[in-house]
Amino acid sequence: MREWVMRAAWIAGLAVVPSAAARADAPFSKVTAFVSLEVRAPEIVGTLWIDRDAVEAKFPIDKDGDTQYTEGELFAVRGPLTNYVNQNFHLMWGGRTHPVTLKAAAFEERAASRNNCVKLTFSAPQYPAGEPLVIFSTLLSDLSRQGRTLVAISADGRREVCVLGPDVYYDSRRSAGPAAASQPAGAANATQKTRFGCFGMCLGVDSPRDMKKCPRCGGPVAALSGGPMPGKGYLGSHGGTLMPFMPGQFRLEGVLATPEEFRVYLVTEELDAMPVGSMSGTVQIWTDKMEQTTTHKEGLKASTNGAYLWASVPKGMILPLRARCMLDAGDGRGQRMVEFFLPDVVRVSE
Ligand SMILES: [Zn+2]
Repeated sequence: MREWVMRAAWIAGLAVVPSAAARADAPFSKVTAFVSLEVRAPEIVGTLWIDRDAVEAKFPIDKDGDTQYTEGELFAVRGPLTNYVNQNFHLMWGGRTHPVTLKAAAFEERAASRNNCVKLTFSAPQYPAGEPLVIFSTLLSDLSRQGRTLVAISADGRREVCVLGPDVYYDSRRSAGPAAASQPAGAANATQKTRFGCFGMCLGVDSPRDMKKCPRCGGPVAALSGGPMPGKGYLGSHGGTLMPFMPGQFRLEGVLATPEEFRVYLVTEELDAMPVGSMSGTVQIWTDKMEQTTTHKEGLKASTNGAYLWASVPKGMILPLRARCMLDAGDGRGQRMVEFFLPDVVRVSE
């Protein structure tokens, strides 16, 4: 419950109306700038996605109020947005900051989080091969204390992800990539724990173990450095909402796998999936803010592979939903109540 209140506060802090397509990671997506960088001398080319609601909070230009950007509206935001990027996103080498040059601007959905973004394609010229690179970003931290920049960097065939914020910068000289690992262990490397995240920048994916593939999108995994991944501890590996269950041991992830199927997964504190075993219980589901009109209660059933508990959701219930589970873990300690906020359907692969 507290988690949701915090998320709602972040949106309120942005002073914008959330888009209709909310999902569990939406509040994190809105205050995270996503940057893909390809470092290939003599230039660095990049792509930057900023959520449409965040852009609108900075530069209110959506004159027709349809939450989409027309060509004209997009054109109007190009100049101010490029200035905003150059004031807050610093690519540094050779002792100075190198401003980026805008190549193109588009209005696009960022696939990994399905948020509507202004997508900027840019380049920074005259980058000498092998020069140490430092990246500092305060993008979106003027809108929210939670504002962070996620950077996925590919350089010399090496891939890594870094979470930047007002107090965390990237320095290729202490890079967490495999090339750094092959160097003699310096003091900085020795004290830093290796972490892993999704190279496609899935939020919430931040693990001390080398996963074979991203648990959310199935894409490649890369070394992760910088601050905590936005959404860590709030988003489960399926992209659903995490709630505490047995503190210090297990959490639960609630997911709307389809509009008519609610699922509960049992996971460890490290997000490892656990079989539901003898766990049983009931769930009561209602449309958020309309508790009196559509309440549906039924027993949770174990899936055939024992990976999750599920219950059907009546057709036509209006999102977002709330689900209140009464669960018995089979440990002789009776029922525990866990409530989930379910903003949208999450794509679940299995
Ligand atoms: Zn991913």
